[in-house]
Amino acid sequence: MTRLAHRFSYEEATARLQRLERGEAVVPIAGKLNVGLVFPGPYGMGMSNLGFLTAHRLAGMVPGIGVERFFPELTDGRSLAPPFYSFETRRPLGDLDVLAFSISFEGDFDRLPGILGPLGIPLRAADRRPGRFPLLVVGGAGVAANPAALSRLADLVVAGEAETIWPGLLARLLAEGPVAAGAADLPGVWAPAHREVPPDPPPPHDVAASPAYAHLITPANAFGGAHLIEVMRGCPRHCVFCLARAIYHPPRAVSAAAFAAWLAARPWIDDLGLIAPSLFDHPELEELLTVCAARGLRLRNSSVKWERLTDPVLSRLSRCGVKGLTLAPESGSAEIRRRMGKALREEAFFATMERIGAHGFMHLKLYFLVGFPGEIDADLEATAEFLERAAGTAHQAGLALTAAFSGFVPKRGTPAETGGFAGAAELKRRFTTLKRRLKTAAPRLQVRFDSPEQIARQAFLAQVGPDLVDLYLKEDSRWPVRGHPTSGTMPDSDV
Ligand code: SF4
Repeated sequence: MTRLAHRFSYEEATARLQRLERGEAVVPIAGKLNVGLVFPGPYGMGMSNLGFLTAHRLAGMVPGIGVERFFPELTDGRSLAPPFYSFETRRPLGDLDVLAFSISFEGDFDRLPGILGPLGIPLRAADRRPGRFPLLVVGGAGVAANPAALSRLADLVVAGEAETIWPGLLARLLAEGPVAAGAADLPGVWAPAHREVPPDPPPPHDVAASPAYAHLITPANAFGGAHLIEVMRGCPRHCVFCLARAIYHPPRAVSAAAFAAWLAARPWIDDLGLIAPSLFDHPELEELLTVCAARGLRLRNSSVKWERLTDPVLSRLSRCGVKGLTLAPESGSAEIRRRMGKALREEAFFATMERIGAHGFMHLKLYFLVGFPGEIDADLEATAEFLERAAGTAHQAGLALTAAFSGFVPKRGTPAETGGFAGAAELKRRFTTLKRRLKTAAPRLQVRFDSPEQIARQAFLAQVGPDLVDLYLKEDSRWPVRGHPTSGTMPDSDV
């Protein structure tokens, strides 16, 4: 009875969400090979994630493939209780041929045991009898960052860009059946049971010829229901801590002409999010914004680069209804910024803040990273002084100012990977120092701090090796679905 009631309320919730979705591509939900595409986080985040949406759209283009989505949280922030059903037809998840997890940051690794455990699927690949359980495939930016972490849990690891690997992998599984051995020789596909180290990824996808975009739009997405297009992949800058730069190299931009053509083919779009790790480094930024302003689009911008905020750019953003901007100085200490590879001239930065206010923007958010290797208390003091000055400038310019603090996490594959993590206790101490120090600026400055414990878990997951699955089995067999906050899943995060 309880099980039926659960299924009924799940059916109601998913049907309500589906009624609100608008789509420009029909993805078959049943085929010869049926795939459950899992976003291991909330529905709204999954539907904002171009990696997940691209995997869904591309799967729908492979003849013979049926694909259904699954989210362990729907709309209200509460994890679903098992048993788990697919989003489209409420099919039991364990009945599908393939379960493919789109994992955009390491924190989501921790959600897998809570999804697989209640389905009765053994966590360790070696403990699963072939043919008895769905084939488990993992991919996404979180997996590309640390492919080893899930290598004893997954049957197949996709550690490259979906466009160049995923359709070929599905076609192979359709032809050979959902077994790892059948796909072990494909470029960019790692079958850990058949090969010790991941293969090299295939050449990078040509994003200009075929940009990633959202083919399904929901008001629940993180951009207020806007359409989404990726206008640049990778970043030309050299911030030594940055994973986006490391895994999406080389940087590739969609030209303004290609963007204009994409937009012209979709006359229904009036609200748009431009996605890029560093949008304001797009080589044709002004041209992109001119196209948007001429069409009268409402833009949902991502984090910006202060030195690219020329008057023409600010005026086009303002014409496109943008009210708030986000900048990432990372530290108030010139020495720490130099070590991070983050160029910032303070006088020019504060002059830009004044111009942002003069163009009628209302909010400004600044990102900071605490705990970078070599940081000492004098650097924290420099950050506090920087923010006091920023608060004064924002007040004069009529801007509401927020400072958001996170902690440095050494990521594999980045130049700062061996830098060392400060530790949760030390991060907590540094956050407390900043909190106390910034009390006097409080009326003019809102401050937000990430949880040191969650940052520490992320640091662990960024470096952990194949024994992660053994640790899960030792730690707790009754993992909740909820992992760690999915803030890192935002595709356009600049930190
Ligand atoms: S932190 Fe931002 S600006 Fe720096 S390399 Fe990464 S995406 Fe580029």
